[in-house]
Amino acid sequence: MSILASRLGRIKPSPTIAVTTKAAELKAAGRDVIGLGAGEPDFDTPDNVKEAAIAAIHAGQTKYTAVDGTPALKQAISEKFKRENKLDYAPSQITVGTGGKQVLYNALMATLDEGDEVLIPAPYWVSYPDMVLLAGGEPVAIACSETNGFKLQPKDLDEAITAKTKWLILNSPSNPTGAAYTWDEMKALTDVLKKHPHVWIMTDDMYEHLVYDNFVFCTPAQVEPELYERTLTVNGVSKAYAMTGWRIGYAGGPVELIKAMAKIQSQSTSNPSSISQAAAVEALNGPQDFIPENAKLFKGRRDMVVEMLNDCPGLKCLKPEGAFYVYPSCEGVIGKKTPEGKTISSDGDFVTYLLESVGVAAVQGEAFGLSPYFRISYATSTEALKEACARIKKACEALA
Ligand code: PLP
Repeated sequence: MSILASRLGRIKPSPTIAVTTKAAELKAAGRDVIGLGAGEPDFDTPDNVKEAAIAAIHAGQTKYTAVDGTPALKQAISEKFKRENKLDYAPSQITVGTGGKQVLYNALMATLDEGDEVLIPAPYWVSYPDMVLLAGGEPVAIACSETNGFKLQPKDLDEAITAKTKWLILNSPSNPTGAAYTWDEMKALTDVLKKHPHVWIMTDDMYEHLVYDNFVFCTPAQVEPELYERTLTVNGVSKAYAMTGWRIGYAGGPVELIKAMAKIQSQSTSNPSSISQAAAVEALNGPQDFIPENAKLFKGRRDMVVEMLNDCPGLKCLKPEGAFYVYPSCEGVIGKKTPEGKTISSDGDFVTYLLESVGVAAVQGEAFGLSPYFRISYATSTEALKEACARIKKACEALA
């Protein structure tokens, strides 16, 4: 008999981590591979943040802290929500975890009973459905078509809600499509949610600061204050401040839920790293000029990648509002044959072909719940991106 729990059979390992690992292995074996799978900025954490961490070590901030965040960090987060989102979350309404990932996981663990449904617009970030499954719930994907810019439509949301629906998970700007909701689009969704008082909203605002062309970010509780009491607003420092390895994420929400999440964390991991918390205080309270500078860089890359991909026979790529991903359609290459005579019958086949023939690692759309597409992360150097897109074009041209 296996030692492994049946729960494990319900989930799969993260496919984006799998692609990144495979690309790294091929590189280590001497292959010329450009990895476009990773979801993290390619530049370094700002110096003022690093210095704050070093100072924290020297000041002896190396012990356990309060389970779900130091008072200083909760205060900084409370001020951030007020300053940037016009949201009032007192420190008692704030929880801090080891990355946004743990915060989302805590929330699902604290709220889902067997059979509770969680609505997840697709394409979605790979971890949402598996986290829901681990917590005993049922993920319910709502397909969001390319025609609608991969955005959830109010009518589709309304139709997907049942008596068992507990949460809607919204992610804007989105991983993997980069799609972000305007105020009016968000309002149309919150209007639907107002009609269903048993449904809570988990909003993942991780890419808030990565929006382009003067796009104005908004978050559900800001757009519809009536939903404040049933919204968990999740965010973190990973993407905005190039701090993925520091592992700090946070959320604001109703006290009862926040306390329940802390209870889960108290019996699993306890506090996130004390040093990372000190660094996050500096990231949130210190100079913010790093953010628009990065956004400018990412915008330039997005424009280049979209243009180059649209020049590849068989591919079609929308220009998204934010994040650092594009989600091109590869419908036009499905059914074609590779020079070796293999037929491309899925987006999985296409990304395998890209990796094997031209050494470009991307992630198949199937992993994100909408095919035939693939995800490219442009959080990599402009030169590498240019080379990768040129290689993708060559690979597409070689198909017959
Ligand atoms: N939410 C989304 C949409 C993400 O893309 C990611 C990371 O890739 C996370 C949450 C997790 O962020 P963190 O690194 O803070 O755990």
